Amino acid sequence: MTSGSSPNIISTATISGGETTPSYAEGLTAILDNLDALVYVSTFDTYELLYMNAYGRNIWGAFDGKKCWRALQNGDGPCSFCTNHLLLNEKGEPNAPHVWEFQNTVDQRWYQCRDQAIRWTDGRLVRMEIATDITERKQMELALKAAQEKAEAAAMTDELTGLHNRRAFFQFGQQAMHQARRQGTSLSTIMFDLDHFKLINDGHGHEAGDAVLRRVGELLREKGRESDIAARIGGEEFAILLPDTGSTEATEMAQRLSLLFRKATIAYRENAIPFTASFGIATLNEQDARLESLLSRADEAMYQSKKQGRDLIHLHPATRV
Ligand code: GH3
Ligand code: MG
Ligand code: MG
Repeated sequence: MTSGSSPNIISTATISGGETTPSYAEGLTAILDNLDALVYVSTFDTYELLYMNAYGRNIWGAFDGKKCWRALQNGDGPCSFCTNHLLLNEKGEPNAPHVWEFQNTVDQRWYQCRDQAIRWTDGRLVRMEIATDITERKQMELALKAAQEKAEAAAMTDELTGLHNRRAFFQFGQQAMHQARRQGTSLSTIMFDLDHFKLINDGHGHEAGDAVLRRVGELLREKGRESDIAARIGGEEFAILLPDTGSTEATEMAQRLSLLFRKATIAYRENAIPFTASFGIATLNEQDARLESLLSRADEAMYQSKKQGRDLIHLHPATRV
């Protein structure tokens, strides 16, 4: 090859004396076949594979005459995620390379793909992809994300009862309140506090107290609706937010819970521990600017239940049915 001339990848170079050397094309082929990445070329109009290096052939097999979506993916037609439309501009000229990440549907490994329109030997523009296996990095990223989600979930969960904690209750509660306002639906809250809980701890031990709290958590999870937001908001104090629920329904729910608690004696070391709770109910009204004001009315109603002898249910008078 003379300096300044452009390399012709199809020609065979010779040196003086007539001795044939490996062609430039063979050299390029050797380089491409030793890359630790997939390189392939396909047409824009027919999706026919024009070239695939050894890395690709080893994984996806022979490519001759095959469409890219059949050779490289499990497709019955052009892939829904095909990037061809991103590779040429309105004038039909090559755009800058498009780089993206994708999990291959055949070998299930993750690849970083660099797609680009290039001029082929016959002059037409074709698609070239260089894909590098990033599975290990991706798996680490996914594991990290899963761990983060788990940690976030743990930060919102009360460990003892498995219910939401106070923080989660306020976070989800604000959302439920905004939704009720937007949709003009009712929203009620039931608060309850276990009666004479200190006596349970003193009489049977702290672990027995914990067993009671766990049982309350189970009952709330079993009996609640999917949309309810049930939380342990204090030591032996719980709150349930009931979307799309008026005061009558909320009262019925509190009555059901109160009955369940009375029946649900906790078997603990030969002892059957009975427990009850005092309930307060409030329903969202127009004056409630914040979730706290709804809760403070439920708290007031609960206080009435305590004051009047415990194991009672009170509905705050400022309610909307
Ligand atoms: P009242 O009917 O007025 O609510 O009386 P009470 O005894 O339930 O209320 P008080 O506030 O006097 O006592 C609450 C007790 O709850 C004291 C505290 O040690 C106990 N407690 C708080 N958190 C836990 C917990 O996680 N586990 C156990 N076992 N006890 C707890
Ligand atoms: Mg109590
Ligand atoms: Mg209390």
